[in-house]
Amino acid sequence: MSRARPYLSFELQEPAGSHSPTSPIPPHETVTNRPWYHYLPLLFTVGLILSPHPSILIVLVRYHLQILESPLYFGLNLIITYTLTFLALVSLLVCVVRDPGPVDYKPGEEDSSLGDENAMSLTEALMGPGPTDDYSEPGKWCNKCWAPKPERTHHCSTCGRCVLKLDHHCMWLTKCLGHRTYPSFVHFLISVTLLATYIASLAIKSLIFAFTHYESIDETTPLHELFLAAEGLIFAMVVGSFVAYHLYLVTTNQTTLEHISPYLLLRYLPALPPSPSGQQLSNPPQEDELTYYQRRLVRRAHGRIRLYDIGWRQNWAQVFGIDGLGKAARWKVILYRLLCGGSSKGDGRTYPRNPRAEDMLANLATDLVMETKDL
Ligand SMILES: [Zn+2]
Ligand SMILES: [Zn+2]
Repeated sequence: MSRARPYLSFELQEPAGSHSPTSPIPPHETVTNRPWYHYLPLLFTVGLILSPHPSILIVLVRYHLQILESPLYFGLNLIITYTLTFLALVSLLVCVVRDPGPVDYKPGEEDSSLGDENAMSLTEALMGPGPTDDYSEPGKWCNKCWAPKPERTHHCSTCGRCVLKLDHHCMWLTKCLGHRTYPSFVHFLISVTLLATYIASLAIKSLIFAFTHYESIDETTPLHELFLAAEGLIFAMVVGSFVAYHLYLVTTNQTTLEHISPYLLLRYLPALPPSPSGQQLSNPPQEDELTYYQRRLVRRAHGRIRLYDIGWRQNWAQVFGIDGLGKAARWKVILYRLLCGGSSKGDGRTYPRNPRAEDMLANLATDLVMETKDL
């Protein structure tokens, strides 16, 4: 086992924006000087959420107040619609504003500077032992940030930094979704789906009324109802399918990245046994040195091996856990989760592994080596 590479903090002053590939970049640093048009997808997302509201108000006033003369239903529908809109916007704001997962994150603390807490001075590095984790292992050191890369951490090339338990970089939110923002992202998807479904059902109901009582309704209201029904149904189906996908990921404890990248498994393989053909793969094997049949083996194994699946209850607890000391504290957490989704449990650096996965990985390692025999 090679010696751990210490993280050194040299007090060298560099002009801003002059990072060379070899210069240390703080892992919590985000690309902040983006051009204005980079945020257009985010504005578009907010616009899509707000766009149906003029039509909703028109339909509610004409249908519930003027035709049905029911202020109670008018108020009730107004409260439900704006509560769901508020919840969607709150979790969207959390996703955009909160750091998705700084590598130096400690639960209960706001974003801290790696330079203050985790970095070793040059003297400390030379005199004392290095960090306890062996960051020289594959996948445990980011060559782009030149910093430790804990388990399930990945480097986002768009943001130019590493993110703890990176799920994916969302182009619509122009932000990474990671350990600290994933619950808010799921909350946002669920809120938008509920809002879209509610609006669609409201619009379809009033549209049916318009067709059956066309003498009591004006010409423009059915157009608003038609627009709301179409937009609501499209959003409910599109965003709803994402909700279903992410509920599956939470239940099986996978990130989007882990689910769509079968070759990430290679990093977790145990040391490969000697090959009977004499053609030895790297340890761990690299994707580009695998044959077609070996790649097929990895892809098939990826469908069965869930590295972090420790049972659906505990998987859900990692993302939406409501631990708290006492009843009052637990209710506080529940309300916080209902408001914006909250943050994932734990430090985001270590995760319990599925005990059955080790045997399956050992079998995959053997199968990969045996496959070289037939070359
Ligand atoms: Zn990185
Ligand atoms: Zn990103």
